This record gives sequence, structure tokens and C-alpha cells, in this order.
Amino acid sequence: MKSDKKGLIAKVRAAGVVGAGGAGFPTHVKLGGQADTVIINGAECEPLLAVDVQLLERQAEHLVEALGRLVEALGAQAGVIAIKAKHQAAVDTLQQALTGSSSVRLHLLDDFYPVGDEQVLVYEVLGRTVPEGGIPLAVGSIVLNVETLLNIAAAWLDQPVITSYVTIAGEVEQPLTVGVPIGTPVSVLLDLAGGTTVSDYRVIEGGPMTGKLLSAEAIDAGMAAVKKTTTGLVVLPADHWLIAQPHLSLGSILQRAQSACCQCRLCTDLCPRHLLGHDIHPHLVLNSVNHGQTNNPAAITQAFLCSDCGVCELYACPVELSPRRMYQAIKAELLKQGCKNPHGRAVTPRAVWTGRHIPVNSLIARLGLGKYTRSAPWREPAFSPRQVVIALQQHIGMPAGAVVEVGDKVDIGQVIGLPPPDKLGAAVHASIAGRVLEVTNEVIIIAGE
Ligand code: SF4
Ligand code: SF4
Repeated sequence: MKSDKKGLIAKVRAAGVVGAGGAGFPTHVKLGGQADTVIINGAECEPLLAVDVQLLERQAEHLVEALGRLVEALGAQAGVIAIKAKHQAAVDTLQQALTGSSSVRLHLLDDFYPVGDEQVLVYEVLGRTVPEGGIPLAVGSIVLNVETLLNIAAAWLDQPVITSYVTIAGEVEQPLTVGVPIGTPVSVLLDLAGGTTVSDYRVIEGGPMTGKLLSAEAIDAGMAAVKKTTTGLVVLPADHWLIAQPHLSLGSILQRAQSACCQCRLCTDLCPRHLLGHDIHPHLVLNSVNHGQTNNPAAITQAFLCSDCGVCELYACPVELSPRRMYQAIKAELLKQGCKNPHGRAVTPRAVWTGRHIPVNSLIARLGLGKYTRSAPWREPAFSPRQVVIALQQHIGMPAGAVVEVGDKVDIGQVIGLPPPDKLGAAVHASIAGRVLEVTNEVIIIAGE
């Protein structure tokens, strides 16, 4: 099936496609750029998550065909599926599917964190370095998540995004990976995994390095639910250090930094963005803050270069300090003051780039996740949730506004929320057929038929 670029972008927009593996950047905007290469990010470098590799193995032919078609529609020259070499079964299946394809190839990645970071991936696959503060388009590439490519393929057939693929791992009876209607409550998915294996637990949405802690109250109330961007639910005991550490108050972080930072600079030596050549030195931000030099623009504006990967906080620092949280707080303040990122140099990776890669096995050991590395096999769900809670903001940009009212009957795939005209955002669709139970500024709740 052929499609011109403009037509494709219109269909992707109407289907509400957003980056499924990240912050949810609207895909129709990304596809509008001019690129010679489209990279499919199958790196899946966060420990315990297993969606992308299983999708690549199970739907290899479909994905290869969709990528070839996308490359053609965008006027690009090549498509690359990037996957870790260690996933032998998926690699074999993809290689078979690639037979005869002239525009799509495979790139095998080493097993390190964070090889799935867009800037790291572009360098590993194409040998091009994205400038500081830039995006892959700056060097002629578009990076898309595996699930996003599936959603683009569906958009071509006028099918909206109504399913999200999720790995449920950690303290559950049977870890699994499953595709479910968007808005499925997290509590339903924990039951689907056979229930939790500890009574006092917390759930991280996403991976352990970059995911976000879900509110226990929201889970109990059935209001925490799967979004377009949900790739995993990691259940951990409430006293696991991964639950406590990234959620310390900023006050405690500052206090700990003042008493414990020895300026060993391990956080800088292992920071992936520093290693790519960016002007980011997390040990210096600790030093500046500790000495009250918060008006030192050179150190402070480095916050704009932090990718939030968590290496400094969760792997590098021997005394568990958090340059990442400092950078997050500083960036929020700078944005509040209307400051823009002043960094934009072209960069060259430092000579130690390869030697400082963090093997995922070492990361798992450091994070205390060794006991949770059981496989999370694919399961076809034999259920439809009785109720879905669909967020109106599942993407970067403006939240969608509801276009349905309480009591309305909705069909599966029907538009229920739209972003303001001409603003960055994404449409939201009903993931089950049923009746609208509740509409707020944040969510639309639908009860199934
Ligand atoms: S690794 Fe920790 S102790 Fe060392 S400089 Fe960085 S924040 Fe300070
Ligand atoms: S989170 Fe830490 S290691 Fe990662 S980019 Fe930011 S400063 Fe560097």
C-alpha cells in the first residue's frame, strides 16, 4: 500500500499516535521532518521490560513491511531495526523477514544501558552525534519505538491507538507481557499476573531507571490505568531502595549532598551525555549547589542537557546522591523563569565512550533486581476490562478536551478527546465500547457494554 507523506501524517494524527516508549511526543510532528534514515528502537535497555523484543519476534514480517513502507512514504533512504544481539531468536526471525528487503536492515546492539536513549542509539547505529540539546532529526534521522511503528501501520488502515503493550514484572506470581485496552486499571493487570507476592508493595510505571512511582491510593481506587506510553509495571516491595531512593524530598537530597558528596566525579565519568561529549558535569552541579553558587550559569544550565537516564543516581554515585534530581529541580525553575537552553554545540564522543558502557547485568545487580529477572512471556488476554479510565493527557503538549458527555454511548475506536486546534497534542479514542460514566479535566471513564 502506497501513501504520500502528507496523507500519512494526517492519518497518524487522526489515529492519535504518540511515541509509545517515551514521553509521548506526537508522532505526526516527528514524521514531518526531513530524514534519510528511520531507526526503530528495539533496544529495550531498561531492566525487566520485554515488550519490544517480543513484538519484534512475533510480528517481524509485519514490522519489516511497515518500516519499508514508511521509509518510502517519508522519502527517506533506509530503515534500520536496532535490537540487542543477545536476543538471538528475535534476530533470527527478523533476518528471515528481511530477506529481499532493499531498504530495511538490522543493526545489532551491545547490551548496555542506556543504549535505547535516542542520542546514544543514533551514534551506535549511524555514527552520527546529535548536537547538545538537539533531536535525531538534526542529523537526518527519525527514531521510533517498535510499538509506535505498529501504531503507524494501523493508522494507515485508519485504526486509532486503543491498545498498549505492557510487561508486568517484579513481585507478581506470573510475570507476563500483554496487549490491553488503553485505560485498563493497573489493579486488573496485577490480577492478570496472578496477583502480587508481597502485601506491602509499590508499582513503578515504566522501567526501574526512568519510570514513575504510581500512587498506591490511585491503584486501589482503580484510577491508575494504562496509557499509550505505558511499557511496564514493575512491582517492588515498599521498602526496596528503588522505591525510596528516587522519591526522597529535594530537601533531604540537598542535605545529603552537602554532607556526603566527596567530589569523586564518578557521576560525571559515567554520565552517558557527558561521554557523548556534551558539556554536562553532574559533580560540578553538586559542588555549585553545596557552595550556594546557584547563580553560576555555566553549571546550572547544564540541567538542560540531562536526559534523566538515572545513571548518576542509581548506578554511579557510591553514596547514593542524586545529581539527576538536582538537575530536574533546576530545570523546572529555569523553565519557570522563562530561560531557554543555551547549549547547542556539535559534539564528539569522548575517547572512553565504549570503555565506560554499563553492562545491563551489572546494572541489575546494582539495582537489587536480580531475583526478578524471570521471563515475562507473551499472553493473549482473554478478557476485556469492565471499565477503562482514559487519560486526556497521554502525550507531550496540550491535554485533549473531551468531546463526549456522561451517558453517551461510544463505539470502540471512537474519538472521545481532541487537542485544541493548531496546538501540539494528540487525539484520544475509546478503547472499549460502552457508556461514558464520568468526564473530568483529566480522564474519561467508560463502562463496558
Ligand atoms: S558520584 Fe556522588 S559523591 Fe561522587 S561527585 Fe558525584 S554526587 Fe558526589
Ligand atoms: S541523569 Fe545523571 S547520568 Fe543521566 S544524563 Fe542526567 S546527569 Fe547524566
